[in-house]
Amino acid sequence: MVASPYGGRLIQNVIEEPHEDLPMLEIGRRYALDAEKIGIGAYSPLEGFMGSSDLENVLYKNELNNGLPWTIPIILPVMAPPEEGERVYLNLNGNRFGFLEVEEVFRFNKKEIAEKVYSTLSPEHPGVAQVMSEPETAVSGKVWIFRRVSRDKTPAETREIFKKLGWRDVAGYQTRNPPHRAHEYVIRVAMEFVDGVFIHPVVGELKNDDFPPEAIVEAYDYFVKNYLPKNRALLDTLTIPMRYAGPKAAVFYAIIRRNYGCTHFVVGRDMAGVGNFYDPYGAQKMLREMDLGVEIIPVGEAFYCDICEGIVSERSCDHNARKKISMTLIRKLLSQGEEPPREIIRPQIASILKRYYKNTESLASSRRG
Ligand SMILES: [Zn+2]
Repeated sequence: MVASPYGGRLIQNVIEEPHEDLPMLEIGRRYALDAEKIGIGAYSPLEGFMGSSDLENVLYKNELNNGLPWTIPIILPVMAPPEEGERVYLNLNGNRFGFLEVEEVFRFNKKEIAEKVYSTLSPEHPGVAQVMSEPETAVSGKVWIFRRVSRDKTPAETREIFKKLGWRDVAGYQTRNPPHRAHEYVIRVAMEFVDGVFIHPVVGELKNDDFPPEAIVEAYDYFVKNYLPKNRALLDTLTIPMRYAGPKAAVFYAIIRRNYGCTHFVVGRDMAGVGNFYDPYGAQKMLREMDLGVEIIPVGEAFYCDICEGIVSERSCDHNARKKISMTLIRKLLSQGEEPPREIIRPQIASILKRYYKNTESLASSRRG
């Protein structure tokens, strides 16, 4: 049996487009993506954007009002809030895709959110910079959608696919990068434990030095089709704004994967980290402490070792001949027109990335991987 939805019931607030005359509320893409994910149940048990009381519990107790563990606020900040009790269409770029039953209009403290969620007020942190740029009033309430914002599969769809493939145990694999050899290693480690791996890269609003979604998808698709056994891996995207909140984001990502049907969740080094803001193993620690109904597969940082002549991890090799495998290094080599060594990334995947690289100038200013 694939995992039951978080909170016990898969939310499916998807309806036919209503033909009512309602006011419109234009929201940004990141919030439209959150609304969509609420509607299709990726954020179950959430049925809408959080109100002030859920927000406070999430910030101070890491749980929802109903006591379920939850670490990331899902709120909808707006410049010109509608009235409480009003029903409004949610618009993205002028096109309506859903509606909101406005429950509460409330003020919140941006600094408090930055401090509690990201554990820093540094403007260098992309999450902090994002929060601080928002209005300080939010609206809560149930969300319904009648048009999709992304092309992501829904949790109901992946659950059906897992069932058809006969997978009982499914490991969710989170990433925001195309696969290098360390990623391949981690995916294969996970495959030893479960019937199938759900490769589920986050491709929403990334930092401007991340690879574009198409590059990530094409590279993974090539890897899955050519190097993994048939019917043991499923690739699909998760289009949501990346939350670089380290351990707290890792908890959120694990909950989402449980909603998609995963029984296991792979957690490598520095999941959802950025710069040096978080303990690289803080995510593994926090996930082991919280009961999310998902089994954690913790993996150490993987290297290429010249003595072992293969990919190893810091848990399985302590030679000094370890070559670090990082996207930062791969990007740097690509930007200089050099071939990254085949020990750290497959040449075919490097050449896929090279194509996208040329179109993405901002990659040249990359700082980390
Ligand atoms: Zn070694």
